[in-house]
Amino acid sequence: MTINTIGIVGAGQMGNGIAHVMALAGYEVLLTDISSDALDASVALIDKNLDRQVSREKISLAEKNAAMKNITTTLALSDLGATDLVIEAATEREKIKQSIFDELLPHLQPHTILTSNTSSISITRLASRTDRPEKFMGFHFMNPVPVMKLVELIRGIATDEPTFKACHEVVERLGKTSASAEDFPGFIVNRILMPMINEAVYTLYEGVGNVSSIDSSMRLGANHPMGPLELADFIGLDTCLAIMNVLHDGLADTKYRPCPLLTKYVEAGWLGRKTGRGFYDYRGDEPVATR
Ligand code: NAD
Repeated sequence: MTINTIGIVGAGQMGNGIAHVMALAGYEVLLTDISSDALDASVALIDKNLDRQVSREKISLAEKNAAMKNITTTLALSDLGATDLVIEAATEREKIKQSIFDELLPHLQPHTILTSNTSSISITRLASRTDRPEKFMGFHFMNPVPVMKLVELIRGIATDEPTFKACHEVVERLGKTSASAEDFPGFIVNRILMPMINEAVYTLYEGVGNVSSIDSSMRLGANHPMGPLELADFIGLDTCLAIMNVLHDGLADTKYRPCPLLTKYVEAGWLGRKTGRGFYDYRGDEPVATR
């Protein structure tokens, strides 16, 4: 099947980036949120980010203008019923996602593919509560969406081949690369990345190194573009802890035990860049290591 119109639920960090890349690739995008402020802020941010791409000569002004024309916003979730593909990118709470699907289902066309950008909730479980588990799958973008090249495509147990193929074609049209992952906690990227970050926090907790020696070791010794603690601050320490808990609970293996020091930082509200302090303190001109 050919996808022409894409509905996006949630105009936060991820929904905003997904709308940006879809509109630029020529899809008609219908973006919804419960908050009109979030919708206005999202369109303004897409405009600004597209301008930056124009000034860096990555896209032309005509491409930017065409992309902006492709984006429509609505507060009515039911309007997304007219689209060919829905990508749900609302807050990471299962109850919220479930109520979105419940409200949306009666309005969907029979052919509409339903997907979720969830980082940690079971695709099979979300799918089982809809009327179309065979037309349901995980469409997992990386943050920041316009920059990151990968999209994980996750089949639920019932996802059929035409659905997978249609989503795969969308990823190709975006100029991104997809990786197919099975529906197990953390999929591929977080299953590998989060235990590495958690191990970096254990290395700090046990005094094997301090924040800067751990980060420079991995930057210069393993050629990672960012140190693991710097990266954890970028992702958000609450998000890192939540994903470790999903791995720990879902795979029932003690090797995924979240480091008590990670829990401590989250308890302190030191969540990384977004709160001004995490493994580094960002409140001055330069980030300063906290340990
Ligand atoms: P966010 O908090 O920035 O945005 C969530 C948006 O959803 C908000 O604008 C909120 O108003 C909206 N929302 C809440 N309830 C809604 C409803 N009932 N109907 C419509 N909109 C509603 O969150 P985010 O970081 O953009 O994450 C969104 C999803 O993407 C989550 O499932 C998350 O796991 C996933 N994800 C996040 C990242 C990341 O790095 N942040 C990476 C990959 C995937």
